[in-house]
Amino acid sequence: MIKTNYKNPDEQGYYGEFGGAFIPEMLYPNVEELQKNYLKIIESEEFQTEYQDLLKNYVGRATPLYLAKNLSEKYQTQIYLKREDLNHTGAHKINNALGQVLLAKRLGKHRIIAETGAGQHGVATATACALLGLECIVYMGEIDIARQAPNVARMKMLGATVVPATSGSKTLKDAVNEALRDWINNSTTTHYVIGSVVGPHPFPDLVARFQSVISKEIKEQLNEQIGRSTPDYVIACVGGGSNAAGTFYHFVEEENVKIIAAEAGGFGVDSGKSAATTFLGTLGVLHGSKSLVMQTKDGQVIEPHSISAGLDYPGIGPFHAHLFKENRAEFFSINDDEALQSAFDLTKLEGIIPALESAHALAVLDKKKFNENDIVVICLSGRGDKDMETYLKMLEDGSQKTEV
Ligand SMILES: *Cc1c(COP(=O)(O)O)cnc(C)c1O
Repeated sequence: MIKTNYKNPDEQGYYGEFGGAFIPEMLYPNVEELQKNYLKIIESEEFQTEYQDLLKNYVGRATPLYLAKNLSEKYQTQIYLKREDLNHTGAHKINNALGQVLLAKRLGKHRIIAETGAGQHGVATATACALLGLECIVYMGEIDIARQAPNVARMKMLGATVVPATSGSKTLKDAVNEALRDWINNSTTTHYVIGSVVGPHPFPDLVARFQSVISKEIKEQLNEQIGRSTPDYVIACVGGGSNAAGTFYHFVEEENVKIIAAEAGGFGVDSGKSAATTFLGTLGVLHGSKSLVMQTKDGQVIEPHSISAGLDYPGIGPFHAHLFKENRAEFFSINDDEALQSAFDLTKLEGIIPALESAHALAVLDKKKFNENDIVVICLSGRGDKDMETYLKMLEDGSQKTEV
């Protein structure tokens, strides 16, 4: 029997032993304000009317659920792609950014802060702020700013202020520290838009709810297309885990739906250059919640590695840690080269260039054998435009095998 409490955390924000809110005392007021109000606001009819209208007419939802015939033929099974790549701004992140900025307005905040690594979440948040007329400040490591120039330009054009984090390794974790410091200093005016199902309670639940539109649509679309609302498998890549949480949400308590998560193996789980948290992580606290964390014996976070910036994270959301611990989901570790190959395969076979993150989910097709009649739904979390430099390098040095 499948337990029926996977989806919702308890009052303290725990999924099993994972979650909670581990925050400095100075953040209590902000986090408590959110905890007290988020459900009341986002479940109100007035909120839902505005949010659903924006999802439909601004983001472009529902995104298609596409039966990929050529891919299905290759793997001898029935593969459906959930096309989050067709959302405005090119990925699932906008579902959450819009929801949180709408929530912030109702909490009386007029200033939004966010942090971003590759810039995708920064762009989504800056987009929502431009649309809804809120000030937007995005913290970003100095090194990441140099590496991600096109996304920095987008954020600036959208009216956001991009603030470099110049301490430590000058990357994502330093940007998180800067954002937290800002939130402490500006608690009454400011909402912190966290970009994945991580952070102190209620963020993992809040973000999962905003992304759950993905599995809600999959159910309706499967019902329309094949006359049943549950697939045999759902597959998604996991960085922090927001697109995966959205893809799994309405299926975690459906006994006959099998759940598969793809983590970034980097150069391989034993290489020392990996981001496969369920394979390498241990119980710890990262960014305000208790979960699996890649860390040394004395609790120093280990620098992760993945070819895809969106999966290059040393933790995993508590929702997923719980699914892993309870064996409700099967986790695969996908290496950089395997993800690259899958990106080229999808492009050749279906004419869809996926984000490198999404290519990790596709690569599960090479790791697991599905039956001919299995309905396999894969979340295509984003489009590959942002990864063209990496893809181009592969094409130029000929290391990409062209036959499929
Ligand atoms: C950011 C990103 C991810 C990883 O984030 P999750 O919170 O794990 O979903 C995956 N795919 C794309 C396209 C992204 O931009």
